[in-house]
Formats: sequence, C-alpha cells, structure tokens
Amino acid sequence: MRSITILGATGSIGASALDVIARHPRFRVHAVTAQTNVDDLADIAARFNSEVAVIGDPTLERPLHDALRSRGANAIAHAGRRALVEAAQAPECDTVLAAIVGAAGLEPTIAAAEAGKRLLLANKEAIVCAGALLMDAVRRGGAMLLPVDSEHNAIHQCLSGLPESERAAARLVLTASGGPFLNRDDLHDVTPDEACAHPKWVMGRKISVDSATLMNKGLEVIEASWLFQTCADRIDVVIHPQSVIHSMIELPDGSVLAQMGTADMRTPLAYALGWPERITSGARRLDLKSAGPLTFEAADRTRFPCLQYAYSALEHGRGASVVLNAANEIAVQAFLDQRLRFTEIAPTIERMLDCYDPPPPSTIGDVLDIDHEARERASELVTDKVP
Ligand code: NAD
Ligand code: MG
Repeated sequence: MRSITILGATGSIGASALDVIARHPRFRVHAVTAQTNVDDLADIAARFNSEVAVIGDPTLERPLHDALRSRGANAIAHAGRRALVEAAQAPECDTVLAAIVGAAGLEPTIAAAEAGKRLLLANKEAIVCAGALLMDAVRRGGAMLLPVDSEHNAIHQCLSGLPESERAAARLVLTASGGPFLNRDDLHDVTPDEACAHPKWVMGRKISVDSATLMNKGLEVIEASWLFQTCADRIDVVIHPQSVIHSMIELPDGSVLAQMGTADMRTPLAYALGWPERITSGARRLDLKSAGPLTFEAADRTRFPCLQYAYSALEHGRGASVVLNAANEIAVQAFLDQRLRFTEIAPTIERMLDCYDPPPPSTIGDVLDIDHEARERASELVTDKVP
C-alpha cells in the first residue's frame, strides 16, 4: 500500500493523478491541498477518504472544516503555507505529487525531498527557481525524484536501463507542440481564452499561456538541465505539432530513442506512480495509422523570444532563472487578468533580465528573496503597461 500527498489536488494534474489513483487499490491518499477552492477540495477529500485536507489561504480553514463535515468526510482541515509543508513531509505518506503551479510550490516540494519521499515532480517552476537546492535536498533526504512533465518523463523512460556513463553522453531533444499560435502572425489582440485553447493538451491556464509563448519549453530546458545534469548546449528543442513523440535522447552511436503516446498526462503520472512497475493509466492507446504524418521543424527563437530568454538565463546563472520565472509569472497573470497584452509578456521578461541580475542563491531563503524582489519590480513594469 502506498500513501500519497497531492499538492495541488484541485488542478489539472491533480485531477489526472486522482483518476489514475482511483484505478489502483494499492494507492491511498493521505493528504490533498488547494489554494482557495474549498468545495472541490472537500469533494476530493470525501471521495478519496484522505486523512488531511489543506487549504493554502489561511482565512479558509473554517469554511474548509465546515465543507468537509457537511460531506461526511473524516479529513482534518489545516490551512496556510506551513500546513502545506507539513503535508509534504508527513510520516504517514511515502509519496508526494508536487502539482502546485508556480514558485508557490517551492517550499513544500523541497520539504518532500528533504523528508526522503518518492517525489513526483510536475511543479516545474520549483526546479527552475531552485534546481541546485532541490537536487541537493533529494540527495540529502534520500528521496526518489520522478519527473511528471511529459517531456522529462519521456527522457527518464528513454534513459532508464542505460549505464551511468551512457546517460551522461546523451543529448536531449525536447519536443514542443508549438502551442496555439505556431502559425498565427498577428498576436497583438490575442485574448486569454485564445491563448489557453491549446491544440493538443488540456491544462491549467498559466501553463497554457506558457505554451503559447514557448516559455513553457524554456522552463522545461532549465528543468531538464537540473533533472538530467546536462548543460544547455546538449539540450535541443524541436517543434512537433502532433505531440505524439514526447521527447527523445540521442546516443553516441547515432541511435535516437523516443517515447510516444497519446497526449494524456495520466501516462507520465502512472509511470511515476508505479515506477519501476508499469501500471494502467486510462489513457487512450496510440493509433499511429490515424495520427497522421508526424512533422518536425526548428523552434523559431526570434518569433518566440521567451525560449531564447530561458536558454540565456540558464547560461547566465541561477539567479537569472529565478528572475525569469518570477517575471513570467507576473506577466502571465497580468495577461490572464487582461491588464497586459500577450505581446508584452516577452518584453516584460526581457526588461527584468536586463535590470535585475542577482547573485546565485545559496539557500531557499535567498531564492524566496530574489523571487519576491523580482515580482515587485515586474509588477511595476506591468502596471505601466495597462492597455
Ligand atoms: P492548475 O492551475 O490546474 O492547478 C494548480 C493547483 O495548484 C491547484 O490545485 C491550485 O489550488 C494550487 N495552487 C495554485 N496557487 C497556489 C498557491 N499559491 N499555493 C498553494 N497552492 C496553489 O495547474 P496545472 O495545469 O495542474 O499545473 C500544475 C503544475 O504542473 C504546474 O507547475 C505546471 O507547469 C505543471 N505541469 C502541468 C501539466 C498539465 O498538463 N496541466 C503538464 C506538465 C506540467
Ligand atoms: Mg511539458
């Protein structure tokens, strides 16, 4: 029996994970968390009979408690950032799914690593901001880190079974769908709903916008560099609009190994939950005969400069990755709130990288300080830009 804490249970990844968990009696849900969505969280806690439910917003503890009791759920209600960290390190769970969106997930993700959990990582912003510190926490805590992001999960699948020396020699090829605007020229009047209408994947709104700017791929390049201990010039990005190949590795003998499947996050989640065993996920089978031609093209870093900014941040230093991520989170939220044009997201990030160059963070406290400062400065830039 494995016991799981799901950080971000009410989100898109949370829902896919719960769907896989419900198919396998060997999994038990210890704790579920959300930021503000009390009703959905209470529904999940009741349905999965979790022992704990945590709401991030500290003002919502009482409403959560009442919502749990009204559903006849047994879960204890907790609230606030400290309670999220406690849910991630609780001795009652052996597995933690990090599926909070944004740098807000950093502290509980690190806590799970330090506590030696099986850590299923979807929260890419955490590893982008604190890659070195997270990898160190994994080592110190004796945790097992399994990537959920489909590209990194694909690479993990391709690498597993190779001897250590061969792994280090592999080049990584991340595939990108190209998002909804791959072939659209004028992006001036793009609306949040258009940006979130991803052609292949159904996801939360922040990552959907990141996919439209290709910042998602940029964050994934940084994520891959930490997960697989690889430098930027060994990580390529190729546009593959059909999203059938989820990523590839290239080996010294010229072999290229790819992982394929339908575009369904339940597959990487089932891989990470069941590892090293393969368990069913509920995902539709891939039918290559009806998948149509598979095409590949270069990623255009001039049209999609966010990808270039991420490569630059990775090469520049660890402080820059925190600034990149914070500026992006602020700009994307402003765009979703219709306070910033889509075409202003990239320039906002570029300006932040030009004007704020902090030293590499040595502690999580340093990361949080840089993140805080970058958010303040980016918010000022965004306020100047109200359309
Ligand atoms: P989502 O917006 O659907 O869900 C986010 C979850 O995080 C919700 O449960 C929400 O309550 C919680 N949350 C939000 N802000 C919080 C805060 N400040 N403190 C605590 N909890 C908070 O997002 P998602 O699409 O499920 O993505 C989650 C993470 O997984 C992101 O980092 C994303 O990049 C990554 N990811 C998602 C997908 C996907 O298909 N959705 C694929 C790969 C990676
Ligand atoms: Mg991905």
